[in-house]
Amino acid sequence: MDTEKLIHDVVKSVMRKLNGNIAQDASTNTTLGLGTAGGKLKMAETVASDRKIVCSISVKHVHLCREHLNILYGKDYEPTILKELYQPGNYAYKETLTIVGPRLNAIQNVRILGPLRSKTQVELAKTDCIILGIDAPVRPSGKLEGTTSCVLIGPKGAVYLKEGVIRANRHIHLSQEDADYFAIKDNDEVDVRVPGPKGLTFNNVQVRVSKDSVSEMHIDTDDGNAADAVNGTLIEIVNASCIAPIGPSTIADSNKIPPYIPDNSISGEITDPNILRNMNKAMEMQGSVSSANVAGSGSNIGTAKTTKTVITVADLDNYKASGINLSPGVILSPLAKDEAIARGIKIIS
Ligand SMILES: [Zn+2]
Repeated sequence: MDTEKLIHDVVKSVMRKLNGNIAQDASTNTTLGLGTAGGKLKMAETVASDRKIVCSISVKHVHLCREHLNILYGKDYEPTILKELYQPGNYAYKETLTIVGPRLNAIQNVRILGPLRSKTQVELAKTDCIILGIDAPVRPSGKLEGTTSCVLIGPKGAVYLKEGVIRANRHIHLSQEDADYFAIKDNDEVDVRVPGPKGLTFNNVQVRVSKDSVSEMHIDTDDGNAADAVNGTLIEIVNASCIAPIGPSTIADSNKIPPYIPDNSISGEITDPNILRNMNKAMEMQGSVSSANVAGSGSNIGTAKTTKTVITVADLDNYKASGINLSPGVILSPLAKDEAIARGIKIIS
């Protein structure tokens, strides 16, 4: 098969040079007269013109376990389904959460996705991580060992999540039929090309084959924005030996456009006193947030019952005379720091 493929590629490139018509060659894939030989060769021949996969952009979201939902929303709380997602049996709930990082920055109204899982998992893009001041690793869903921590806050309580914050790896859910067609099996990694003016090729895209899946690529908002891809953008599975000239970006038929995860999240410094109170509670119960963010260590998680004083802009009047002493037990929010400097309040570090 490898020899056959090599010959095929050489013939193809010679034909291109002779024809001087690359575009036509790439769009038809029928000029070589080699026919389809099945297996890997079939994939190489059909990539440019044939079967495409819809893209879906996964905005930041949280999967919850029952225990954490009980804490965040109340015992035996039943969330309401807001929207069915593209993969059968997956949905966005009406309910949202606030995610807080060690810098006291928060992202509010982050969507909870269903169904409930055995372990809580927070999926963010790099940009979200920067806002929160955390460094979440790239992981496949469910591989949470040694991942990053955060605080989750709901209307009824807060959870200090010791690990479970990831940037989800690029992946494609493939139907069994499409997997057979491309000759790809579960857990293979492929390259995926997004066409258009910001077109690019994503590497290390994990394939997940299941008889219950419909074919759909999942990438985070940073990857999506980099390629100018939206929900429904049609992408191509490629391998390195069959790159053809890139065409314009196209969108799937309306019945094949994956639904967006409804996103009303907002990010910035926390000013809501309820969120602050809940966050302090979670930090008192579990030790400080920042301690858990030291990659790989986390030695004092759950042991040191520290109480941290959080100083926001609203508290600044209390520190006019004394100044702010930045001891390890004090968190001065970034906004409050700027304001303190502007007001001439002394910050002792
Ligand atoms: Zn997925």
